[in-house]
Amino acid sequence: MKAVLFAAAATLALGAAHAEDCAASTDYAIGLHGGAYTNGENISQQQMTYIRELAAQVGRQLRAGATAVDAVELAVGAMEESGLYNAGRASITNQEGYVENDASIMDGSNLNAGSVGSLINTRSPVHAARLVMEKSRHVMVVGDRGEAYVRELGADEAPKGWFLKSGSEKDEHGTVGAVALDRCGNLAAATSTGGYDAKVPGRLGDVPVIGAGTYADNQGAAISATGHGEWFIRHAAAHSISLLVEGGLGVQEASEVVLERMAEKRGLGAVITLDTEGNFAAPHSTRGVIHAFASDDTDAYSKKTSAEPLGRAN
Ligand code: ASP
Repeated sequence: MKAVLFAAAATLALGAAHAEDCAASTDYAIGLHGGAYTNGENISQQQMTYIRELAAQVGRQLRAGATAVDAVELAVGAMEESGLYNAGRASITNQEGYVENDASIMDGSNLNAGSVGSLINTRSPVHAARLVMEKSRHVMVVGDRGEAYVRELGADEAPKGWFLKSGSEKDEHGTVGAVALDRCGNLAAATSTGGYDAKVPGRLGDVPVIGAGTYADNQGAAISATGHGEWFIRHAAAHSISLLVEGGLGVQEASEVVLERMAEKRGLGAVITLDTEGNFAAPHSTRGVIHAFASDDTDAYSKKTSAEPLGRAN
């Protein structure tokens, strides 16, 4: 493992966009997740169908030339609006009974990134994160003042009565995320969540922390995580996976190395990981992860698990 890490460090360089390949490449891919889960019975057929159809739809957009950044914002924004997952409209509430949303987005062609945390009244947190990425000189804004700032950048308020979950409802899964490869050869990733139930007001999870819950680098991989966010922060999980891919590991093995390391300490979760060849992995140390995939050579599918859970924490 050390050799892999050293090799990765030796070849680190800021990724450049491969715009010259745009016309030549037919390759594209979109991977989505709708959250890690510990209790499979709670997953509805509607969630599984929605995520598969969304992968098919975003795949068509990529085939027509959409950028990876547009694709991940489109996918995560749709899941936020759907009311089916723990993100955006159907986010679970904190221990005081109100929603605090976190989201992030990253462009693997130039390492630009944007994130927002603890937003209480913004309609699309992932769009707010993109505005931070593209219209400000910052990467992360949080809380009341961060929310006032994204409003200035153009993020819409949530309409009255927008949020669906009441303070009494509990839900352990449903964070959403997307990773995409566009026909220019560029990667992007985005993630959005309400966190987990009974969180303390002001708590930020891994989702707004670039390198923990979200990362994209054309030199490595695009990653979106779900699960126990504190552990993804402690392990800088998404960035670690990208570095391992850059050092030569495949997306499955690189993701498993990091998830297994986390599971040794009982930090459970899942990731979706995509490289510039369109290789996709969705391993989990939880019981499963709702995920979907479509590419130039794979018809859209959705699944609840990829294989047996990783690690010895189960
Ligand atoms: N990772 C999210 C958080 O800790 C929760 C989840 O993915 O279920 O905020």
